[in-house]
Amino acid sequence: MSNELLPDPAVQVAGVREIAPDLLVIPNHGVPLVPNIGIIGGTRAVLVVDTGLGTANAEQVLALATEVAAGRRLYLTTTHFHPEHAFGAHVFAGRADHLVNRAQADDLRAKGEAYLAMFRGLGPSIARRLDADVRVPTPDAVHDGTRELDLGGRTVRLRPTGPGHTNGDQVIEVPDAGVLFTGDLAEAGQFAIFPWFPPHDTDVSGSRWLAVTERLAAAGHRTVVPGHGEVGGPEVLADVRDYLRELRDETWRRRGSAMGEARIAAEVRALLVERHPEWAGREWIERGVGCFCAERPAPVPNP
Ligand SMILES: [Zn+2]
Repeated sequence: MSNELLPDPAVQVAGVREIAPDLLVIPNHGVPLVPNIGIIGGTRAVLVVDTGLGTANAEQVLALATEVAAGRRLYLTTTHFHPEHAFGAHVFAGRADHLVNRAQADDLRAKGEAYLAMFRGLGPSIARRLDADVRVPTPDAVHDGTRELDLGGRTVRLRPTGPGHTNGDQVIEVPDAGVLFTGDLAEAGQFAIFPWFPPHDTDVSGSRWLAVTERLAAAGHRTVVPGHGEVGGPEVLADVRDYLRELRDETWRRRGSAMGEARIAAEVRALLVERHPEWAGREWIERGVGCFCAERPAPVPNP
């Protein structure tokens, strides 16, 4: 990543909009390292989905959620352990119960400190967001399998998907409204984010991620809130699924040849940029190629 150019990842709560009754999204306005954040209300309780990066962002999100809740109990959940999604949870301590799936709790414990250090090194605006108060979240409750959370007149499902973008992804379903929060299992208007950082973190799995998007795309959600990018319909998931297939097929087609990985990455990048000229985040293509290259052993040469 070229660090100097990353803008301040500020959550803009003023942009909040209601996408269904008592269901708000704070859109990320296309700013890298700002996630789409959800505030989902029932008659008795309100669930916040993801925190934004660092103390000041999370304080704004909590202030808005508290105002919206107007006395209703607050819960927080996070879609996965990455810092812009979860590393504001300390602000919610004592104000909202933080609920996460088992694999995400494991990711936080195993990799949280390393990601905090890595993100602090990404540039001054990000380091400022990750001030000294920020710490690796310690969830209040951990669920195995799907957790049904009754908010009063509205039950949401916190559904772990199995490994994909990370080991510990979960999606948040709001069945009465037909809404799905995907976390970074889906991004809109940009190439899929592959956190492929060998040798430190190689947990992202292109093949499993593809399988997850195939399942989610077939599930018929009317409204899809991606981790980053515009809220849309089922096409958000279909686009990611199709892109992951392209990335896999174009990588594996070249994998058995004498080409080195750098040349494979250059060719696949050129091809996919040509197919998706309007998408941002081109730097993630090569990491995706690296991931898929590692997933399939080179064929045994003919004797
Ligand atoms: Zn992520």
